[in-house]
Amino acid sequence: MITVTSKKDCCGCTACAGVCPLGCITMQADSEGFVYPVIDASKCINCGKCDKICPVQNREPETTPRKTAYIMRNNDADIVRNSTSGGATSAFCEAVVKEGGVVFGAVYDESFRVMHRCIDNAEQLELFRGSKYVQSNTEGIFAEVKKQLESGRKTLFIGTPCQVAGLKRYLGRDYDRLLTIDFVCHAVPSPMVWDLYRKTMEKKFGAPITSVNFREKSFGYHSSTITLTFANGKKSQENTLTDLMMKSFFDSISTRPSCHECAFRRADRVSDLTVFDCWNITRYVPSVKDDDKGYTAVLVHSDKGEELLKSVADKTVSYSADFDLLLQYCGVMALKNPPIHPQRDAFFEALNNGTGLEQAVKTYIPVKLSRKVFGKTKRTLHRLGILKLMKRIKAGGK
Ligand SMILES: Cc1cc2nc3c(=O)[nH]c(=O)nc-3n(C[C@H](O)[C@H](O)[C@H](O)COP(=O)(O)OP(=O)(O)OC[C@H]3O[C@@H](n4cnc5c(N)ncnc54)[C@H](O)[C@@H]3O)c2cc1C
Repeated sequence: MITVTSKKDCCGCTACAGVCPLGCITMQADSEGFVYPVIDASKCINCGKCDKICPVQNREPETTPRKTAYIMRNNDADIVRNSTSGGATSAFCEAVVKEGGVVFGAVYDESFRVMHRCIDNAEQLELFRGSKYVQSNTEGIFAEVKKQLESGRKTLFIGTPCQVAGLKRYLGRDYDRLLTIDFVCHAVPSPMVWDLYRKTMEKKFGAPITSVNFREKSFGYHSSTITLTFANGKKSQENTLTDLMMKSFFDSISTRPSCHECAFRRADRVSDLTVFDCWNITRYVPSVKDDDKGYTAVLVHSDKGEELLKSVADKTVSYSADFDLLLQYCGVMALKNPPIHPQRDAFFEALNNGTGLEQAVKTYIPVKLSRKVFGKTKRTLHRLGILKLMKRIKAGGK
């Protein structure tokens, strides 16, 4: 019977709940909003399947990475604008659906909670587009993936490295028609903090949220903002250092405990492809000028991954890149755990005791005044072309 003695040992992938033959494991949120398995001991027959399936308890031995890397961008400018980096992931999804396959990825539901879903038509793929910096709910999804595979359909699963690892252990065997993409993952923030954030923002702006974009590019890829729109036409546009949600994410105060000792931060990844932000294309491809629209860095780990990459050749531009250099400068989080914030427990305790999110952020991770001023003047700096100049200076004049 699976027991989580330390929260650092459970990534919340749901594989144990999915494999239990008697359905006696449910995933329940703790006081921080992260799900963990809870077992109904009166039903459990001690078959041990849950222990055997856990991807954290049963880490795969390290292998030598393939060391193939590319920097890619979707040819469709709208897709690039609405994607986190270069929109390469959208091209992969499209290729699978075009062949009659299905894609599993993360979407917002009608209340803007982040959930995994299955999509099999090109029109709906835009729902996957863009990173949602919240742990997505994968309950029941692994069984759905298995069903699609067993029915013979090509199936692409996109998720955090731990979700992909959980899925693979759940399936328990290789499927030729299964493709997986993970991303370099800083960590996953708490769904409870995300709920509090939405409520805080809706109260502040006086209307329900109608759209969310965690990495909106109206000031360019390098100055992306988390942009929310509200039913009354108002708009919130904050940068990663001033926004309550993004600041608590990047300061690692709202993130899942297991992310800070992640079992899957390694160069040999669990997936066929790994995607992440390419922050400085000129470092790897000197002939290309950085136009601040974003490029996706892609690592290839298998022949299936290489094939998927080839299948989108007419929909993307791609440059071969140095694997080690790309990881060193853009994919640091593939290898290095972010340190957990020393005030994390106090932050969650305050939230559970009724302190509002705004106050908790102010107390434990206050936003610097200089950052606030910069955030407020960003639009003007952008309009005057000063923001672009600042970015150029920061990038070493390129
Ligand atoms: C929680 C999180 C942390 C990340 N941390 C880093 C990092 O530290 N460094 C880095 O370089 N890149 C990180 N990324 C990846 C990065 O944000 C982009 O997803 C990546 O650059 C691919 O961009 P794209 O334009 O090709 O695709 P996008 O349009 O961004 O597509 C992203 C795909 O990811 C899936 N997805 C989105 N949100 C989630 C979620 N919450 N859970 C599971 N799947 C999801 C969607 O289904 C979609 O198919 C992170 C992403 C997430 C969701």
